[in-house]
Amino acid sequence: MRPFTYTRATDAAMAITLRSRHPNARFLGGGTNLVDLMRENIEQPDTLVDVTALPLQEIRELADGGLSVGAAVKNTTLAADRRIRERYPLLAQAIVCGASGQIRNMATVGGNMMQRTRCCYFYDATANCNKRVPGSGCDAIDGFSRMHAILGASDHCIATHPSDMCVALAALDATVHVDGTAGARTIPFGLFHRLPGDTPHLETALQPDELITSVQVPPLTAAANSMYRKIRDRSSYAFALVSVAAAVATSDGLITDVRIALGGVAHRPWRALEAERILRGAPANDSAFQHAAEAELAAARPAKDNGFKIELARRTIVSVLRELTERGSAQ
Ligand SMILES: Cc1cc2nc3c(=O)[nH]c(=O)nc-3n(C[C@H](O)[C@H](O)[C@H](O)COP(=O)(O)OP(=O)(O)OC[C@H]3O[C@@H](n4cnc5c(N)ncnc54)[C@H](O)[C@@H]3O)c2cc1C
Repeated sequence: MRPFTYTRATDAAMAITLRSRHPNARFLGGGTNLVDLMRENIEQPDTLVDVTALPLQEIRELADGGLSVGAAVKNTTLAADRRIRERYPLLAQAIVCGASGQIRNMATVGGNMMQRTRCCYFYDATANCNKRVPGSGCDAIDGFSRMHAILGASDHCIATHPSDMCVALAALDATVHVDGTAGARTIPFGLFHRLPGDTPHLETALQPDELITSVQVPPLTAAANSMYRKIRDRSSYAFALVSVAAAVATSDGLITDVRIALGGVAHRPWRALEAERILRGAPANDSAFQHAAEAELAAARPAKDNGFKIELARRTIVSVLRELTERGSAQ
């Protein structure tokens, strides 16, 4: 690990100023991803600006009935919050599906959103990786690609986004609040993470000196009937092969509102907008669920080892929608 200076920022302005003065600085959340990357020499910052003491620790009620979650709120705190568990169960479930209790106790909301891919070629400094060294190539494309993307990938990168929490935030249409030297702004969650295209090293819409300050979750009645299902190689401490975050409202056997996002299948949490479009107003039955899942996955382009993800995603979407609509009509 290269030597670096460490500063614990006490307010957002201080953190942003330090970051802007040191082009090779990084904000430090819980360090559960960044420090690993530094140990592997994948990231080599000369300055760490610790943002865990900033006054961004609150989960606050909004006037419209939504919630504002500070970027420094710990993953454990967010998942345990009664308002999250009752109003947005998919979000609480997604968080506890990730990592381990110890890691979630350290990890922050901002850090979770900015965590980097788990592609093994990204972590291997001897491999070609356009994300790590732009223009060097992508060894994953002809390599071991079981964990990789089936949707929205490019000839330059087939990595996936590893976060569980972000899949739920994508389904909920959250809004990201950021602050930087050019001032504060908001970014819709669906535009926060980028597809790889020919610039896979650019992973988010965040500018280098911008700090995530909070994430706002809008009120959503359907979210009370929601869930997160994660399919992985073992039941704990593994990243998703495929995951589904969904919320559904029905009335008289018809779907009145539906939100679906997929994890483990793309460079960013994948909002299943085509499936949602087909389902809105449709009867809540298996044939509609199948049709919607197939339409969403029609654009899937598997790599050598991950064709199974298409069927896995299709079945997971259908089973989640079936369970939610059965539960919704029983209430
Ligand atoms: C063994 C292991 C297993 C894991 N399994 C899972 C899993 O199954 N599912 C899952 O979702 N995650 C998993 N994780 C990842 C874990 O969730 C992330 O490491 C964690 O969420 C990162 O949060 P952090 O606060 O520690 O971020 P850090 O490591 O501190 O930072 C990560 C990045 O975020 C940036 N950053 C931090 N805060 C801000 C901010 N406010 N504004 C802008 N940038 C910021 C940092 O500069 C850095 O680039 C796993 C991690 C490990 C080590």
